[in-house]
Amino acid sequence: MKKMIFCLAMLMCTTVAMADTQVVAHRGYWKAPGQSGNAEGSAQNSLASYKKADAINVYGSEIDVWMSTDGVVYVNHDRVFKGCEIQKSTSKECNKVVLDNGEKMPKLKNYLKTVKKGNCRLVIEIKTHKDKSQQAKCVSEVLSLVKKAKLEERVDYIAFSAAACEQLVKEAPKGTPVYYLNGDKSPEEVKAMGLTGVDYHQDVFMKKHPEWLQQFKDMGLKINIWTVDSPEVMKYYINKGVEFITTNEPELLISLLKK
Ligand code: MG
Repeated sequence: MKKMIFCLAMLMCTTVAMADTQVVAHRGYWKAPGQSGNAEGSAQNSLASYKKADAINVYGSEIDVWMSTDGVVYVNHDRVFKGCEIQKSTSKECNKVVLDNGEKMPKLKNYLKTVKKGNCRLVIEIKTHKDKSQQAKCVSEVLSLVKKAKLEERVDYIAFSAAACEQLVKEAPKGTPVYYLNGDKSPEEVKAMGLTGVDYHQDVFMKKHPEWLQQFKDMGLKINIWTVDSPEVMKYYINKGVEFITTNEPELLISLLKK
């Protein structure tokens, strides 16, 4: 009988751990040809993509940010988007760029107004700028805009640049979630940087360092995995009990988490 109760308790613990994985919509909730779900009228990193993500109650909606030569922070993924390289362009030039859904390329300042009206968290990726002083200014300006919008409690930060991560830890309010993306730092190194955890590509744990999954957990560091669109890989990481999965298919991931 005791053994049976123990087994039942273990099973319940496993179920709770699996259900703990949270969904992050990659570049918001947008829809590519052949992709499932309800994101019509959206585009990557658009205001619509945040609203669509918020409407399906995900944990977070991710965006990418760059700074223009005159210090304005824009929301877009690509280094060069429709002929415009944000980090080498003025805001006048950036303002002309139109997204695939007809929206103007958003300024972060305006994006935050939309986030303010929603509930889901915003995951901001600081892109790696060629000019490191421009990148440092970008980090400071992003933190300042988030503070002015009174959204400090609702934003997580991610970056491939270790310098950007370290600056975020230093300048953001204590306890702000900051995750490193580049996949090359060990649990010890990440802990030493003072980060909340990592946001690593799916292959890092599956192919290179399976031992890191447990080591990150043991050190109290959280794990996010990008960008997982295959149901098999989603199930693999749900079963591993990672805290977050970032996906272009948020509704598919939500349906797997309910099973
Ligand atoms: Mg990104």
